[in-house]
Amino acid sequence: MTALRSLTCYLLLFTFSSFTMAQSSSQSSAMAQAAPLFGYGPQTSGTERDWEKKFQEGIVPANIRENMRRLSARPHHVGSPYDKDNAEWILARFKEWGFDAHIETFDVLFPTPKERILEMIEPTKFRAKLQEPVLAIDPTSSQTAEQLPTYNAYSADGDVTAPLIYVNHGNRDDYEELDRLGVSVKGAIVIARYGAGWRGIKPKVAGEHGAIGCIIYSDPKNDGFFEGVDYPEGGWRPRDGVQRGSVMDTDYPGDPLTPGVGAVPGAKRLAIKDAKTITKIPVLPISYSDALPLLSALRGQIAPDNWRGALPITYHVGPGPARVHLKVTSDWATKPLYDVVATLHGSGADGQWVVRGNHHDAWVNGADDPISGQAPMMEEVRMLGELHKQGWIPKRTITYCAWDGEEPGLLGSVEWVETHADELRKHAVVYINSDGNERGYLGADGTQDLQVVVSAVARDIRDPEKNLSVWERAHLRAINKAKDAEERGQLRRLTDLRLEALGDGSDFTAFQDFVGVSSVDMSFGGEDEGDQYHSIYDDFYWYTHFADTEFVYGRALAQTAGSTVMRIADADLLPFDYAPQADAIAKYETELEKLLKDKQDEFTERNLELQEGVFTATADPHKTYVPPPVEAVPPFMNFAPMKNSIELLKLSADRYSKALVKYRGATSAISPESMDLVNADLLGISRLFLNEKGLPERPWFKNQIYAPGAYTGYGAKPIAAVREYMDEKKWRQADSQIPMVAQVIETISGGINKAAADLESAVTPK
Ligand SMILES: [Zn+2]
Repeated sequence: MTALRSLTCYLLLFTFSSFTMAQSSSQSSAMAQAAPLFGYGPQTSGTERDWEKKFQEGIVPANIRENMRRLSARPHHVGSPYDKDNAEWILARFKEWGFDAHIETFDVLFPTPKERILEMIEPTKFRAKLQEPVLAIDPTSSQTAEQLPTYNAYSADGDVTAPLIYVNHGNRDDYEELDRLGVSVKGAIVIARYGAGWRGIKPKVAGEHGAIGCIIYSDPKNDGFFEGVDYPEGGWRPRDGVQRGSVMDTDYPGDPLTPGVGAVPGAKRLAIKDAKTITKIPVLPISYSDALPLLSALRGQIAPDNWRGALPITYHVGPGPARVHLKVTSDWATKPLYDVVATLHGSGADGQWVVRGNHHDAWVNGADDPISGQAPMMEEVRMLGELHKQGWIPKRTITYCAWDGEEPGLLGSVEWVETHADELRKHAVVYINSDGNERGYLGADGTQDLQVVVSAVARDIRDPEKNLSVWERAHLRAINKAKDAEERGQLRRLTDLRLEALGDGSDFTAFQDFVGVSSVDMSFGGEDEGDQYHSIYDDFYWYTHFADTEFVYGRALAQTAGSTVMRIADADLLPFDYAPQADAIAKYETELEKLLKDKQDEFTERNLELQEGVFTATADPHKTYVPPPVEAVPPFMNFAPMKNSIELLKLSADRYSKALVKYRGATSAISPESMDLVNADLLGISRLFLNEKGLPERPWFKNQIYAPGAYTGYGAKPIAAVREYMDEKKWRQADSQIPMVAQVIETISGGINKAAADLESAVTPK
């Protein structure tokens, strides 16, 4: 799962929704309570409320605990015996609970370590132990025979010896800083600390700058003793704790050998040497106890203030005098994936699907990542099965997916979506993801057409620790965290969670970016007493001592995600509202204009200072300082086509919101045929975000509004076709993408207009 969760997901923001009726449905007054749910009539709304209440009351924390105990009892990475065993156990439960379930398998490239050596050969000798020790108090930490060693999957094989250089987080701006310090990484091995983006960016950028090897370590400032007491006395990463993880490049997710198609028998496979997503240089993750001797042996310039971690040393950049030898080789074998897919067939004839998923594979025991999401999801399935026995039949078909192979690179979900792309485009109305869960506040991100319905559900769920709804608690926290009076004032007037755009890093990616399905990712967190991300210590002992120990937030996740599934599956009218989405897209466009203006100002000022001699006059002559280069000031870009299309989008979204008001007030019954027509319109709208050619540099990513960044990974880069060229300072290419994006937005607007027209005619008495 993503490390992003701990960084941004809890910074919940709220926004105005122009669709005030949906909001009133969940206000606390008794009168508002009686108003029908969004997408329901008075009759169906009452019935839905009853079923949802029954569902929420039936979720049992002890069941979630037992699911976690069972699923995290042994290491269960891709290709391990317990990975398959878990898939079969999940399958048996899904069947027992009345779902129509099967396992779908794919054969994917999954390298595992063969040789790992990291040693310092100058100025002193030191050999890294590359191992997380067994702790007597932690029973599963001793399952060494089944544990994957500490490594980064999809690292290139390599055997290199070179001077060492510290590169902070190893992002692009860190290399600009190195240029100022007069340090080149050409021919060197770099050591970067974890944090500030997808780990795969670190070796990618290092390689682009000429480095021949990359080491990534966990600095205690990020998730160790600087944050809190370390394990096992407290929950934070101990000195020998290591974060495993994939370093796959961002061209496309999924199996490196089968981009764009399912990894099924007979699929056309690339040769390993042609797979673009394998790193160019060897990479190895280490603990800070292994990093400390290496970092201590560096000299050269002292690291800039914001590069320093929490180790008891003066952080130097190098190069050298430390010289290190790094050797990494993998067994490049193909391994089977086991996706468990369970369906509860709907009563409606419209053939629409609601899809819900969480992965089941882990790096080791993975109690937190991913089982703290998988265990509640299974409890959702159990309880939906229970309702089904009591007579509940969803209107739409519900599919629950327990994905395999998420950790190496979203393998299970991507291969499944690629295999079923045509069906999904025809049938899927929404994908609801989770990937782990802890104590604290609700975090939800996704496509903003779901903002109103997700917020409405969140108002119905009680926070386990406070007598508030999970929506209200998140809302009050946002006020508490607001940066100034203006933001607090804004927040106080808002009534919805604001869904931020999804980037990458969990199983929603293929749904949103490859087949254009509206998606939301949710979890609770922010009050955890530690972090053992991708370590052998992320296990049942750790989770039940330092995370959601009573599994009451597991219950809250099952209640929130499961109720969202039910709310959308049973609705007469799909509960989508486009006003928040139009606002979000308008905001993304404004950000592009601001980015251009900021860059113009920044480069103009810098060039002036270069002329004035500011840099040379102020640099300390005892230190190396290289002034930045003269930059061409970015030219004018014509955003008008995009602004015009966004005006159209706002008008169509507004028209649809008004049609919803009429729908809410309709007195006569609406024919099923008219309703099917509007629902079919609504299903099609999120597909209109796609352009089959994909992003200019990354054709797998077809969504023209939502995408992860090629150089951020986890982080979203909305309107990536334009924005990424701007990040590359390729202003002309960025400008040339604007009409294409405008066309996509216009097409979306056309789709919303059609839905509005069909809804208007459906609610107009004949
Ligand atoms: Zn995960």
